[in-house]
Amino acid sequence: MLMQYIDYYEILGIPKSATEKEIKQAYRKLARKHHPDLHQGDAKAKAEEQFKLINEAYEVLGDADKRSKYDKLGMNWKAGDEVNFDPSGRGGTYSYSYQQPDDFDLNGFGFSDFFSQFFGQDFARARQGGAQKHQPASKGEDIDAQISLSVNELINGVEKELYLSVPNICASCRGERFTQRGICRACGGTGTTEDTKTVKVTIPSGLHPGATLRLKGLGGKGYGEGPAGDLYLHINAAPASDWQITGSDLETELLIYPDQAVLGDKMQVPTPHGQVQLKLQPGVHNGQRLRLKNKGLPKNDGSSGDLYFKIRIDIPKEQSEEEKALYGRIQELRQQTHK
Ligand SMILES: [Zn+2]
Repeated sequence: MLMQYIDYYEILGIPKSATEKEIKQAYRKLARKHHPDLHQGDAKAKAEEQFKLINEAYEVLGDADKRSKYDKLGMNWKAGDEVNFDPSGRGGTYSYSYQQPDDFDLNGFGFSDFFSQFFGQDFARARQGGAQKHQPASKGEDIDAQISLSVNELINGVEKELYLSVPNICASCRGERFTQRGICRACGGTGTTEDTKTVKVTIPSGLHPGATLRLKGLGGKGYGEGPAGDLYLHINAAPASDWQITGSDLETELLIYPDQAVLGDKMQVPTPHGQVQLKLQPGVHNGQRLRLKNKGLPKNDGSSGDLYFKIRIDIPKEQSEEEKALYGRIQELRQQTHK
């Protein structure tokens, strides 16, 4: 039997190497875009066609078994080629026997002849089995989100409100994507409905940039008695104005006066860990970096980076007459000693 080969990867706009997650994302995006209910007139018919193809592509690529079966076939054919299902024909190694259960109408599901011939039996069996099987519960979807934290928040922890877009398992098809009548209209065949929610999360202290927090139960709702999915929160360092971040080291400028540079001093300085007392040695130079060990950002091995103060020597804006006189005296001395 000759069939037009359909390139499901091309339909979803993804490479052959796409991961399960990438396939799902591409599928959902396209299914929402081409949902027939969002279009009218001529565009509606076109969208309907596209929508069916997208669903068919996902039915195959979204299922590991079907995908590998399809990939084996796809090694020998390109889109538009005539595919020969006869084992004696081109390709030669693939044998196929197809028998559709009597009471299952695949056309109603909107699948192509290519699909029906290639997967029809598997699909029909799975759907029939699925419909009979009592599925009281399934776990909700896990979701991913990103958050940028300031240096202070990373080191000390913080409470944050997150605005999340959450895929909840579709109540009409129980996440199966199909009802008895075909592609589920309630979820557009995606198996989930997108809802938004705001949650308050407590972010613990000492997180390193690049860390991922797993927050149980904050993902999509489960079906029936099934538990909700989890939220994987990826932690980033927000670009900081007061601290320069290099790896897990922090650096900031420390402004001191000439007398402090010459004579040394003790000063209170703010850090993300609170105020610390810094001891300036006499004769500190402009541009010199003072290190506070382990006061930088947390690292993923549990240790911490270092914190640096870079010295900048400046003079006070206003000088009193007395100060000017004393600087005058210093100048005289310098001119005598360093001629
Ligand atoms: Zn549904």
